Amino acid sequence: MENNTTMIQMDNIYKSFNTVPVLKGISLEVKKSEVLAVIGPSGSGKSTLLRCLNTLETIDDGTIKIKDEYLAKSVDHKAVYVDKKAQKRILGHMCMVFQQFNLFPHMTVLENLLEAPIHVKKMAKTEVLPIAEELLRKIGLFAKKDAFPSRLSGGQQQRVAIARALCMSPDIMLFDEPTSALDPELTVGVLNTMRQLAEEQMTMIVVTHEMGFAHDAANNVIFMADGNIIEKAPPQDFFNNPQEERTKSFLKNML
Ligand code: ADP
Ligand code: MG
Repeated sequence: MENNTTMIQMDNIYKSFNTVPVLKGISLEVKKSEVLAVIGPSGSGKSTLLRCLNTLETIDDGTIKIKDEYLAKSVDHKAVYVDKKAQKRILGHMCMVFQQFNLFPHMTVLENLLEAPIHVKKMAKTEVLPIAEELLRKIGLFAKKDAFPSRLSGGQQQRVAIARALCMSPDIMLFDEPTSALDPELTVGVLNTMRQLAEEQMTMIVVTHEMGFAHDAANNVIFMADGNIIEKAPPQDFFNNPQEERTKSFLKNML
């Protein structure tokens, strides 16, 4: 169950690439332990939205607040970011998992998990090791801890990528189509790992084409098209009783 603490607040986010607007005044809020599914056609701005949230892209205008701290604030119709040190601290609350698994190919599974906690968070290896091993047990891949990523299936690699993100102890997880690069039979394990995370009250934004996951793991679903949020509702309402024509025709095409 989500509780009332706001973890992410985005207000009136504008973003253009070379004067082409891609986000046109997006606002959204994510509460603690909420799972927010974001769906919509290709090119609607879903990835850009997530990338703006973790500063892989900068916004032109709008306000972003993470756990009561401003990351960027709208001043005279321009986004003004907090200084780099504050950005780094705020971004430490979030981890992102991409469509491509991006594991370090020259490191073993375990080394992949240990890398960021040791080199970014400056944790001692003795401190991280039990956490990493526990995460690998949890995703059922402890036996593969000394294997290199290339020896794992795509689904296993993606579960390791999730465990690697979790090893940083984030409060918020962002997923950008984590199963889109996988064969259908390999998506199940990844979705199960994400469902388990949701059950453990992780706050999550999940961009996905998996309507089943959005339907039964999300607390809220957002439909984006053309740089706007067209509709937002809890999954039962969203899927059984969509209000907007564009949502209806999108859902019809998904069946
Ligand atoms: P989605 O994830 O919903 O498919 P994206 O956020 O990737 O959509 O892209 C939204 C729009 O922004 C698309 O028209 C895309 O071509 C454009 N876009 C995304 N990233 C860039 C970029 N770095 N430079 C220029 N255009 C981009
Ligand atoms: Mg995308």
